[in-house]
Amino acid sequence: MKDGSKLHTYDVVVVGCGVAGLSAAVAAAEAGAKVAVLERSTYEERGGNTRYTEATLRMKNEQEVSTDFETLLVENSGYYIQPDFQAATVLDYENWPALVRSLPFTDPELISWFVDSVPDVIAWLKQRGIQFGSTGFYGLIPRPSPRIAIVGGGLQLVETLTPFAEKLGVDFFYQHTARDLLQSDTGAINGLVATMLDNTPVTFESSAVILASGGFQGNPEMVVRYIGAKGRFLRPISRGGYYNKGEGIEMGLRIGAAPSGDFAEYHGQPIDPRSSASEPLVMVYPYGVLVNRQGLRFLDEAPGPIDSNYEEAVRIVAEQKKGIAFCILDDKINSINNWRRTVRTDQPPETAPDIKTLGERLGFDGVAAQKTIDEYNRCCRDGVFNPETMDGLSTVGLTPPKSNYAVPIDKPPYHAYPITSANTFTFGGLKINTNAQVVSQAGSVLSGLYAAGETAGIYYGRYPGATSVLRGAVFGRRAGEHAANVAKG
Ligand SMILES: Cc1cc2nc3c(=O)[nH]c(=O)nc-3n(C[C@H](O)[C@H](O)[C@H](O)COP(=O)(O)OP(=O)(O)OC[C@H]3O[C@@H](n4cnc5c(N)ncnc54)[C@H](O)[C@@H]3O)c2cc1C
Repeated sequence: MKDGSKLHTYDVVVVGCGVAGLSAAVAAAEAGAKVAVLERSTYEERGGNTRYTEATLRMKNEQEVSTDFETLLVENSGYYIQPDFQAATVLDYENWPALVRSLPFTDPELISWFVDSVPDVIAWLKQRGIQFGSTGFYGLIPRPSPRIAIVGGGLQLVETLTPFAEKLGVDFFYQHTARDLLQSDTGAINGLVATMLDNTPVTFESSAVILASGGFQGNPEMVVRYIGAKGRFLRPISRGGYYNKGEGIEMGLRIGAAPSGDFAEYHGQPIDPRSSASEPLVMVYPYGVLVNRQGLRFLDEAPGPIDSNYEEAVRIVAEQKKGIAFCILDDKINSINNWRRTVRTDQPPETAPDIKTLGERLGFDGVAAQKTIDEYNRCCRDGVFNPETMDGLSTVGLTPPKSNYAVPIDKPPYHAYPITSANTFTFGGLKINTNAQVVSQAGSVLSGLYAAGETAGIYYGRYPGATSVLRGAVFGRRAGEHAANVAKG
């Protein structure tokens, strides 16, 4: 603890110091508030997921989001919404029925506000020392929609905004885990209780609390409770995710916050489970075949551009026995220029003269896999293989089909990578309005309570890639400004 006392008083308390928490803290301090940031980790490990992200941003340039940014958010904003509820959202937000404000879909006006705020938040971050530039890509065909990135990734954001906030007078309390919200007689939030490493409670009194403590990907109990039994196999994609154990979401739900975001889904990415590196992606599988532990294929490895399809594929991998699959390639892979760009694991592929041996080494049924590959090879047809476009070279008469890059796997030695699904972040969170205030189950705001970043749920179904860092910055900043203004009266 900063000064050893068990009671602190601030205008605004922020939980978490990733992109959402740091944006909130800076904005609140600049608006004149006395701000504390509580962070579960040590100073060295601070920043959760933000610390490890490459921070690619779904934008054409610093002024414009990519064309599909808003469409994808709208398409992934909820399921089968009752038409009369949807019709009610055409009214001004103030006139929406209370029931509609609390429903589990992402409000259209929240999406518009998010999209419209992006260029402004980029300029705001730039003024505070963050630089933007171009980004690389793991695919061999051009990305369907453009990206820019933060130079130095999320780490640079954490390393730049922390001292910036300190200079503004923000106090940071490391190894302090927020546990319980405090409420006045009127129900307004007036602080929280945190615990230190030895479980000593510390009370923070404040006019507002901003929950920016990430999702629940680091809490196996919540992951299985919400995502289901396959959640056992979904490890966080990097060290930062293990710190996000869902207290922010649970604290909000406990006092009546409306849930929002898809509690049964997560942003999945295909990784090599043998690696301890951050984000050890294996994106080469469209050029081979995927089999499960029984040696059987179970999906179309190349239905379209990998960037638009890997999430669905890896969620199916998570449903296979023990949540694992194996990408089998033959030696022709080495004739593809730059194929290694598609693999970010630090582990080499397992290599063997035959499929049976690969299976013995990696733990799948190699005899069955050889039969699977024999059948696949019989269903490949003549045509021109081109890994740098969707070549349309599909199998014929095979179930499931392979829609592109279907060339026989027949040139030894054979290579294989194990693939599991990482849980980059969870989708379920708290419902917020355009001030980043938390909305209650009753459809009103929970006075004094804000949420931003992964703690505020906005995604359903498929994640519109490269929008989560922006979400953290936009709603974190908004929460900080609003909370400070309310605190200062
Ligand atoms: C490897 C990787 C690659 C990614 N790539 C991209 C990308 O290219 N583009 C993109 O837009 N997104 C990407 N993402 C997702 C994006 O980085 C995150 O969703 C975003 O940074 C989350 O920010 P946040 O502030 O909400 O949470 P976090 O950055 O996770 O911060 C949460 C903080 O809260 C702390 N905390 C948790 N619980 C408590 C508690 N109870 N008390 C106190 N502190 C607590 C944690 O320790 C952590 O520091 C990626 C993520 C990862 C991990």
